[in-house]
Amino acid sequence: MSQNIQSVRGMNDILPGEAEFWELFEETVRSWLKSYGYRPIRLPIVEPTPLFKRAIGEVTDIVEKEMYSFVDSLNGELLTLRPEGTAGCVRAVIQHNLIAQQPQRLYYMGQMYRHERPQKGRYRQFHQVGVEALGFSGPDIDAEQILMGARLWDDLGLDGIKLQLNTLGQPEERARHRAELITYFESQSELLDEDAKRRLHSNPLRILDSKNPAMQEMIVGAPKLMDHLGAESLAHFDAVQQVLRDAGQPYEINPRLVRGLDYYNLTVFEWVTDRLGAQGTVCAGGRFDGLVEQLGGKPSPACGFAMGVERLIALIRDAGGEPAPQCVDVYVVHQGTAASRLAPRVAEGLRDQGINVLFHCGGGSFKSQMKKADASGAAYAVIIGDDEAEAGEVTLKPLREEGAQKRVSVDNVADEIMNSFMDMEEA
Ligand code: ATP
Ligand code: MG
Repeated sequence: MSQNIQSVRGMNDILPGEAEFWELFEETVRSWLKSYGYRPIRLPIVEPTPLFKRAIGEVTDIVEKEMYSFVDSLNGELLTLRPEGTAGCVRAVIQHNLIAQQPQRLYYMGQMYRHERPQKGRYRQFHQVGVEALGFSGPDIDAEQILMGARLWDDLGLDGIKLQLNTLGQPEERARHRAELITYFESQSELLDEDAKRRLHSNPLRILDSKNPAMQEMIVGAPKLMDHLGAESLAHFDAVQQVLRDAGQPYEINPRLVRGLDYYNLTVFEWVTDRLGAQGTVCAGGRFDGLVEQLGGKPSPACGFAMGVERLIALIRDAGGEPAPQCVDVYVVHQGTAASRLAPRVAEGLRDQGINVLFHCGGGSFKSQMKKADASGAAYAVIIGDDEAEAGEVTLKPLREEGAQKRVSVDNVADEIMNSFMDMEEA
């Protein structure tokens, strides 16, 4: 006997019941983005592998061990399922010369792929909403993007999501910090795990990002980048904080917040909840002024953030949020030759008026069709037998509330239903 094929580990189906939460989430997100003037961009899921190596950095968790890369067997090209969206977005912006004339505010949503150990809040296929502003250099846009998050949590009915903030300064400032960091970590070498030892000379900043509990205390004592920042970097950071304070947005400065990707500079931030266990970061981002040039474009400042949709949906469900149940308005029941010819036209006529209709398919007795009509959650059954068909009428039967069924002419049934919905709204 052959075994049933299962989905790939860490890649989940989102079934009806769950998927309605996703739709509601996406609707809320789209109107929120619109309210800030962000425009949609749709990007491929597969990109050339070198794009991610160049953008994210060779010595990062993602590039070292999380990418789904493969050789296109037809032409030998090295390809990767996107592990994040910024690299592809910047590639597209350069390729199509999008920021030559004016800066751009862009967003995308979709699947990302990382070969991680699947657990609650961490999957191998997951979804992000990515928000990028390209061609902006000032702290005003950093602050706007941070405050956007606060508004979205509110729109989604979520509370308790806290803001953490840090600055990574500029590459020269990081270089000075890096030298001190290496000296410090060398002095603590007996406490370093394998990853940290490997990264000690290639990417010591990344050690600060380690999730290994055994290293946390040692990491807290490491030299702070903040002590190496010049006046300009400090001023940028201060200006961001000023806007946040003016807006009454609380935040915590977390010097260990270095982000898992190499392209960031200056402002970095994360939105974190303690309601999701270990996977508490629901949104993360920051400035990446060097990336456009690094990928071959004209130097251009930028900043952006991405949120983890699975984690946010989990929070929404945890908070008891419920999407409106998606019921149709009308279930069309029909039996008999003439009736079954009339019925599809009646259903389409109702849809012309914006009424949602489940049309009974598959035949069966009136009784069994009425059972399905009841179970559908529809407000009305429209019943058509040959008797009705001959008279050019239907029987309209309320399913959710008391009230007698009545015969209505085919031409009037949509109006009749619309009027009753309006009466219900007024009541
Ligand atoms: P983490 O520290 O949790 O691994 P990250 O720093 O790798 O996160 P980013 O690359 O900044 O994550 O991605 C932004 C957001 O996408 C994260 O804050 C998280 O909400 C979500 N995310 C990242 N990886 C996963 C995953 N494997 N499964 C589900 N969501 C994820
Ligand atoms: Mg990660």
